[in-house]
Amino acid sequence: TARAAAASSSTPLEALTSVWGYDAFRGEQAEIIETVTRGDDALVLMPTGGGKSLCYQIPSLVREGTGVVISPLIALMHDQVDALEQLGVRAAFLNSTQSIEERRDVERRLLGGELDLLYLAPERLPVAADLLDRARIALFAIDEAHCVAQWGHDFRPDYLGLTILHERWPDVPRIALTATATAETREEIVRNLRLDGARVFVSSFDRPNIQYRIAPKQEARKQLLRLIKDEHDGDAGIVYCLSRASVEKTAEWLATQGVTALPYHAGLPAELRGRNQARFLREDGVVMVATIAFGMGIDKPDVRFVAHLDLPKSIEGYYQETGRAGRDGLPSTAWLAYGLQDVVQQRRMIADGEGDAQRKRAQTLHLDAMLALCETVQCRRQQLLRYFGQDSEPCGNCDTCLNPPEAFDGTVPAQKLMSTIVRLQRERGQQFGAGHLVDILLGRENERVVKMRHTELSTFGIGTELGDAEWRGVVRQLLAQGLLQVQGEYGVLALTEAAGEVLRGERDVRLRREPERVRTARRSRS
Ligand code: ADP
Ligand code: ZN
Repeated sequence: TARAAAASSSTPLEALTSVWGYDAFRGEQAEIIETVTRGDDALVLMPTGGGKSLCYQIPSLVREGTGVVISPLIALMHDQVDALEQLGVRAAFLNSTQSIEERRDVERRLLGGELDLLYLAPERLPVAADLLDRARIALFAIDEAHCVAQWGHDFRPDYLGLTILHERWPDVPRIALTATATAETREEIVRNLRLDGARVFVSSFDRPNIQYRIAPKQEARKQLLRLIKDEHDGDAGIVYCLSRASVEKTAEWLATQGVTALPYHAGLPAELRGRNQARFLREDGVVMVATIAFGMGIDKPDVRFVAHLDLPKSIEGYYQETGRAGRDGLPSTAWLAYGLQDVVQQRRMIADGEGDAQRKRAQTLHLDAMLALCETVQCRRQQLLRYFGQDSEPCGNCDTCLNPPEAFDGTVPAQKLMSTIVRLQRERGQQFGAGHLVDILLGRENERVVKMRHTELSTFGIGTELGDAEWRGVVRQLLAQGLLQVQGEYGVLALTEAAGEVLRGERDVRLRREPERVRTARRSRS
């Protein structure tokens, strides 16, 4: 039986075949497992879907005692443990959602040597320390280890307490795992978890089966519907939205369009959330519309597309979220709609948000890298991988490879826009958002323009070489490049210091012209 198989595994390969039913280790799994089984520390940087779980589950089975897994994903512990039990692995969890009786039972099994794996929420570690002292521990696995990085995008203060692992149980091997691999985050993990002696395993971050596409946002929901109907009809997918309200509206609207779409965000009743998640996992072709609260640790191999209706705050976040597509290795789409309003909103959120100057600077750098990815005229994948420190060739499977956008010298349009802003402010003490500025440049004599006598400005009508959408693209890119900034409650535009160089002709501006028609290979589905 499965239970007997799990109990009797004596080598990693035996466990892999008899418990999981797989034939061979993937990538660096074998070496990682060997390292930890031997009793050494390891730091594992592996993309989502790469197979991190086995790297600590198998050593937990092979080594004597219980493998203790620290994970912030309390909502998923139940499912993870269920899945392991089905394989015959003796697993349990301890977190704050349990009753005292349930916890007692787990403690009893731990002390009785009846557990292969114990999942533990980080905030429970201080209270569980005495218990762990009395148990036989095979290893500590620190899942989602980037949560210990203050610099990173997903910091959890509880994770700083994990230094206790090393101090209190110096002989127990530790394996830290994450799908985030920037140099800064990696260094912080090593420093904050005292992993100086650990062997570091960095897997390739390329997910060749994912087609990356970033489209200018027009009517995001309709664009999304077209993507679903044209390329992913009946497929399972995840749609990420920034706000809870837009999660609900989008899910409702998709449903009226015949898509099986369900909402998920932290503000929904736990019961409904659980039900929607279960349907997404078990039924075919469910589209989950969610905030980023959804997805961490979700193991659904056949998610065929991940769509973002709003701009992610960082490349780390974008990569992690899109990485939930195509874990089975089959062709999948990562699609993002991105517009002027996203830049305005994200810049404002950073300015108005909590945190000190250093935190805001880090957030700005994260956002700038994400914007650079959106505005690049080069291969998206190449840029993405370069961000994670990996060199590669143009991929042939992203929107810029399939349909190269043109880069053009945008210095003159930038100067026209900037001097309109300067004139309005200097001569009239007025500031405006993108819409009105574009009306002026295009020479539109609409009510507002006429009433404010902006027809008399020397820049009125000097921008007819570009269309409306192109001008908005110019504004967006100047914002992205830090040449314009958004100010005040109404999001009016102002120049940054760097803009002076452009106005004085000391600096050129390179811009991306959106391709006319986005040509994407329509894939046949089997
Ligand atoms: P991660 O935690 O890195 O996102 P998982 O550990 O959830 O990835 O693994 C992703 C998927 O790959 C799972 O369905 C897992 O069962 C499968 N998998 C992992 N290792 C192997 C292997 N050696 N052979 C076949 N499938 C594997
Ligand atoms: Zn490419």
